Amino acid sequence: MPVACFQRDDLSGCAAKGASERSGGAVFSHFDQIKTVNNVFLLYKYHIFEIDVSKSQWSKYNIIRISKFIKKVILLIIKRIMIVVLIFFLALGCSEKESIRTGTANNNYTGMQFVENHSMENSNPDDPNRPDRWNYNNWGNNSTTFYYLNHGHSGKRSVKIEVAEYEDGDSKWFFNPIKLEPRDYVFSNFYRSNVDTRVVVAITTNTGNIEYIDWPNAPASKLWRKYEAAFSMPEHGETATVYHLLSKKGYLITDDYNIKPYQYEGLNQAMVTITFDDGWEENHRTALPIMQKYGFRSNQFYATTFIEDPWVSNPKELIQPFIDAGHEIGSHSITHQYLTKLSEEEMIEELEESKSYLEDYLDIRIEYFASPYGAYNTSVSKEIKNHYNAHRTVDSGYNSKDNFDVNRLKCMSILSTTTKSEVEDWVRKAKEENLWLILLYHRIADNPNQYDTTPELFAEHMQVINEKGIPVVTISEALAQIDIQ
Ligand SMILES: [Zn+2]
Repeated sequence: MPVACFQRDDLSGCAAKGASERSGGAVFSHFDQIKTVNNVFLLYKYHIFEIDVSKSQWSKYNIIRISKFIKKVILLIIKRIMIVVLIFFLALGCSEKESIRTGTANNNYTGMQFVENHSMENSNPDDPNRPDRWNYNNWGNNSTTFYYLNHGHSGKRSVKIEVAEYEDGDSKWFFNPIKLEPRDYVFSNFYRSNVDTRVVVAITTNTGNIEYIDWPNAPASKLWRKYEAAFSMPEHGETATVYHLLSKKGYLITDDYNIKPYQYEGLNQAMVTITFDDGWEENHRTALPIMQKYGFRSNQFYATTFIEDPWVSNPKELIQPFIDAGHEIGSHSITHQYLTKLSEEEMIEELEESKSYLEDYLDIRIEYFASPYGAYNTSVSKEIKNHYNAHRTVDSGYNSKDNFDVNRLKCMSILSTTTKSEVEDWVRKAKEENLWLILLYHRIADNPNQYDTTPELFAEHMQVINEKGIPVVTISEALAQIDIQ
């Protein structure tokens, strides 16, 4: 993800300029003070000399001249003190302005280091085979060796995981969880690997639960490669760590972990898109009328095997009302499998045939794809791009100017536990920062499973969106809007 470096450079430039101006000011005022002292001294010397010369002719005239001189000196000193005080307050004002800018500018947090021993240079005093404040573990059936290497991306150390045998589970090195305030952050590290690897944020909540945010896989790279992704620390989050993990046979070397506060760079306009995955038959009866009440249109992603399910009668009759009301239809594959686990041939078939099936069956164009389980890697991503104009992932986050990728659209997943106020916070943030918020729903029904929502909660979400006055757009409308920016 490009992190608005020009801003950072700009600002460090500004800060450097400000500092030199300030120190320039200080030098100038110091020089001025010297000049002031010299002036007084010169005046004094001159007048002493005059007094000396005129000692024999001491007169009223000289007393007046001396008192005039003292008055002049006092006025000069007062004037100089006032200038010094003025310069001091101006410098104070500037430094305040500077720090406010630092606080709000994009990613201008140079020098802030949230991950302790981030480059793993210091070994653990009690265990020389691991970096201080770092740990490793693995679970499942795999044979893993953990190494603390004597070379790295920067400095002299890094860590390596080598999985010789793999059946299931994963293996990872991770830094001790760190306390983070609720806000957005950007994580980065450097890695080398001979296979695709996974990256997951683990957030420990104030109730002691651990919530995981899955990020896109880090593609295999035998040369050092930077991985970067943004995440939001929730209000109920206490600490966080990041697992860059290996869940297959291969190796992974990592170094230089970093977490910094992050601010999205806004688009020209805030937008919300409502998406639904799978094609649950209840939704035409539960979700559709609620959306119609507000004139909202959504994107519906169908796994075509569900349409052909013999238990669902007249599936076209359940899809057509969405099409008639202006909602967009997209593909969610044929069989709803992890595309990353299929052969290339099977994966391409899932992409191609779900599209042609929907196009024939519904007599419309299918342009967008949502990956089942949000599972994709480099080759899946490439094939999706070959067949569709956009790919909605389940990568958590907002779509902004700095991270926009039509082949990796981010979204916020609605779970049965998602509250009205959470949705309200997301919408507020999107509106305030001009972000494109995509919501992901599954089934809207009275007996919700983990990824479902009740009709009551869904109605509350739609009401919140309506009240906030944020434009609700389909993916086509959002892309058209972004195109003109
Ligand atoms: Zn799905």
